[in-house]
Amino acid sequence: LEPAYSFMVRVRMPGGVCSPKQWLQLDELARKYANNSLRITTRQTFQFHSVVKRHLRSTIAGINEALLSTIAACGDVNRNVVCHNNPYLSPLHKSIYDWSKRLSNHFLPQTQAYHEIWMGKEKVAGTLPENEEPIYGETYLPRKFKIGITIPPNNEIDVFSQDLGLIAIAKGSRLVGFNICVGGGMGMTHSEPSTYPRLGDVIGFCTPNQLLEVAENILKIQRDFGNRCDRKQARLKYTIDSRSIDWFKAELNQRLGWDLEPARPFHFESNGDHFGWVEDSKGRWHLTLFLLSGRIKDTLDQPLMTGLREIAKIHKGDFRLTTNQNLTIANISKTNKPRIEALLEKYRIPMPERFSPIRQHAMSCVALPSCGLAMAESERMLPGFLTRLEAVVEKAGLADEPITLRVTGCPNGCSRPYISEIALVGKSLGRYNLYLGAGFAGQRLNKLYRESLTEDEIIATLTPLLEHYAKERQQGEHFGDFVVRTGYVDEVREGREFHEV
Ligand code: SF4
Repeated sequence: LEPAYSFMVRVRMPGGVCSPKQWLQLDELARKYANNSLRITTRQTFQFHSVVKRHLRSTIAGINEALLSTIAACGDVNRNVVCHNNPYLSPLHKSIYDWSKRLSNHFLPQTQAYHEIWMGKEKVAGTLPENEEPIYGETYLPRKFKIGITIPPNNEIDVFSQDLGLIAIAKGSRLVGFNICVGGGMGMTHSEPSTYPRLGDVIGFCTPNQLLEVAENILKIQRDFGNRCDRKQARLKYTIDSRSIDWFKAELNQRLGWDLEPARPFHFESNGDHFGWVEDSKGRWHLTLFLLSGRIKDTLDQPLMTGLREIAKIHKGDFRLTTNQNLTIANISKTNKPRIEALLEKYRIPMPERFSPIRQHAMSCVALPSCGLAMAESERMLPGFLTRLEAVVEKAGLADEPITLRVTGCPNGCSRPYISEIALVGKSLGRYNLYLGAGFAGQRLNKLYRESLTEDEIIATLTPLLEHYAKERQQGEHFGDFVVRTGYVDEVREGREFHEV
């Protein structure tokens, strides 16, 4: 007899796209082996929770039967490649999505061990052939590596939080290349100032033809120079800060044998999802739904999981997960639109406009009871906390104001809290550090405002700030900008300033 171990299983789904058939297969696995629920993560994929050990192999084999995989969805390798999901830009989506798949495939580990262990394939050799892992080598990376692609002006994927962020530069709907952004990352440890979140630096531009070569060399620099003695210092952000961004650029150019072009102009305006119905230039419809914390399950009030299953049975397009834990039912034909609308109504799936802007811009990590690293509640505290905050916001006259709000159960920062205008980071049960002042479009880090607050104390602390903001904000000024301008927190210009007092 052994303890009833239970596991989290994460799907590899580059760009967050799956077919209706795959949706149905994943839905069935969740009901058979997990906790009757699907959860969309901030890396645009699904996580299954509470998979007990004896069901692990069947779950992973089932995911592979759906022509998806779990390989390299965790571990010290390139993780799920994320990309933009803005249905307004659907003609460009295809090329960006294709790039997310190409990058994902390019960086897949070559080892057969995954298939031997999980698919029951026979072990074919005792040792790896010399060049079996041409990119990762024998020791893989010092730490995880994240790649994301976005198309300005929407920074919905938080491109500056990626180890390698790609800012697509387009002329009309034609992709001309990518600005290259390196060294982003969210995680840190409480009371260890040598660990900090960092936003990536834009170091230049390359054409689509050059992208794989550039991306591979960036990853290999991290493979060769990343800190392998201290995991807390092992992400690319610390490799860059310990040696300087100029060293990194010189090393990259030297490996390439040519120089990156100067970065092309771009600007970001927002980082949330575009909700509701959108018709694209080809007359296809896309519906982006708001799903708080990406949780898909049936409740007494709302049979969401069942409703989406019924939609998947008749849907002929695709499903696109977003990096903000929401869902686009994409590529709906004119004739199928009324059928899908009828199912949305039948299963009481709410249209996103029913939710306040602050709720639409809120995210949380899973935390308790599923994550062993959690110090505080996150997903389970967010709905009630939002209801209280919405009352404050409404009373202050800010009901229509979008403000980004993110909660995590620990400082690892899975919901990218350090680039949200208001962030709660779990300190201990029922207590959170409150961070303020990030840029609305994810272009500036926030800063610690108050430590170890209870939920009541957070509401009491935020209330006068929001009232002040309502009275004295400038035209178009976001909350994060306001609290910096009025001196509640200092501006954080780079990661190393994050802990400065
Ligand atoms: Fe777990 Fe921390 Fe990530 Fe939340 S932020 S899911 S608590 S590791």
